[in-house]
Amino acid sequence: MPSLQQLKFFITVNHLSDLPQTLAEVAFAGRSNAGKSSAINTLAKHTRLAFTSKTPGRTQHINFFQITDGVHVVDLPGYGYAQVPNAVRKHWEGLLGDYLRLREQLKGLVVIMDSRHPLKDLDWQMLEWFAPTKKPIHILLTKADKLTRQECAKQLSLVKKAVADWPQVSVQLFSSLKKSGVEEAEATVLSWLYP
Ligand code: GDP
Repeated sequence: MPSLQQLKFFITVNHLSDLPQTLAEVAFAGRSNAGKSSAINTLAKHTRLAFTSKTPGRTQHINFFQITDGVHVVDLPGYGYAQVPNAVRKHWEGLLGDYLRLREQLKGLVVIMDSRHPLKDLDWQMLEWFAPTKKPIHILLTKADKLTRQECAKQLSLVKKAVADWPQVSVQLFSSLKKSGVEEAEATVLSWLYP
């Protein structure tokens, strides 16, 4: 079985019209600063594979990482930048919605949320765009190390309840700092890519 440790940088694209041909991909999405790059790096056991660009003008960069030939992890731009002009953001969000709804080789979506502040409006937007495809969604509640064990259990149960209407959605706790939840997250992603 391939592993996410094999992830290598493949290509950066600036427009959804320039997406490379792939056989299978899993996309990672999340609010800016939720911990998406850290999660990808943790899963890849690599310190600087994915890195955040906090420059608002750069919100549209999509990074492709390759596991094996034609099989990719897609790092979508973080959403929810306050500084981006509304029109630009709306335009970008529309394109992102198209990608999530229409990309056939997209096998599943990982949504990264800060375990202290999950399910913000734009997180729901991602879920609502993707859920109609019936493809699997895995929510990583990250920065779990910032919560007590009790708070973790509470947040996990709260999010599970909120998405209970969608049987294809799974949820887990994750910490890039403590490297917890890594095996479960990796197994989920690989099961989508290498069924
Ligand atoms: P991104 O914008 O979603 O890619 O977020 P980053 O991965 O760049 O993380 C944003 C900030 O949160 C950085 O300061 C990280 O060090 C911190 N961070 C990310 N994951 C964790 C985690 O699991 N635990 C803790 N304590 N901090 C984290």
